[in-house]
Amino acid sequence: MSWLSTSVVGRAWDEWRHRDLQAGDDAEDFLLVTWDSCRYDVFCDACTPTLDRYGSARRAWAMATYTLPAHQAMFAGFLPHVFEPLPFYNRFVQQLWRISHRNLNVKPLVTFPEGRGGIVTGFRRRGYATLGVAAMDWFAKPSPLQEGFEWFRVTGTRARDQIDMLCEQIGRRGRRRPCFAFVNFGETHSPFWHEGMAHVPDPGGDRMSLGRLFNASGVRDPSQSLDHDLWRRQRRSAEYLDGQMTRLLDCFVARGRPTTVVVTADHGECLGEEGLYGHAFHHEKVMEVPLLIFRLNAAPHAAPQLGRAG
Ligand SMILES: [Zn+2]
Repeated sequence: MSWLSTSVVGRAWDEWRHRDLQAGDDAEDFLLVTWDSCRYDVFCDACTPTLDRYGSARRAWAMATYTLPAHQAMFAGFLPHVFEPLPFYNRFVQQLWRISHRNLNVKPLVTFPEGRGGIVTGFRRRGYATLGVAAMDWFAKPSPLQEGFEWFRVTGTRARDQIDMLCEQIGRRGRRRPCFAFVNFGETHSPFWHEGMAHVPDPGGDRMSLGRLFNASGVRDPSQSLDHDLWRRQRRSAEYLDGQMTRLLDCFVARGRPTTVVVTADHGECLGEEGLYGHAFHHEKVMEVPLLIFRLNAAPHAAPQLGRAG
């Protein structure tokens, strides 16, 4: 942060200057959606006709092993990383949202001054409606994950209600200004339950019970392997969420603004590999996540242009 940034005039100058350091403009809507704990292989195998219309998810590497730090990374501008030369999927090609004072060879789509909070705060300072709804308790106050949001609700696992609430707020608060909207869905988190699924005792659900997770050994046991019942149960939840995505995306289509959409998972999940269940430890199946980025109401973003570093 420069000395100039500490003054009122300096802050205004920084804001003005940053508009010139980015490739995008301030008319774009953004929607970030995390399917909590959704494994990459589950996402790829699931029947997802809604999202298939917009492309195929890439295999990405999560920034952290559990909900809190993984979302903190995203709200600091670091999406899961894809090792392919693709803008936004690979921030070394072009970063979608960036906190920086630097003039980069490839301008990020959006950039905010450093030292003023995260991406959400940055959008709010620019006049965006910053609206979020989350299933997981990690988002409950005083969570740092609510920083910068002008409206936020923690709901538990209720995708249908989450979408209703968010779309209502978008209509109310975002009528005359752009939106940064965020949704964290819980259906793909253990016990992999979704609306309409029977509440009868389920051997798969029992195997993912909190009692079991809290009493797991956390020790690799090479004789153990993937629990296919649990895997299929998460896949059913993923397919349910894909069906719900239709209404969420329609809400942005109806607004008519160019909208960049990011669909990903904060981390994956072990489902019995080497005797491991859950997340919050490093394992390939915890770290690999799906990442899909597309645009509504406009042509895809132009290929990044090499600029001149200052
Ligand atoms: Zn999570």
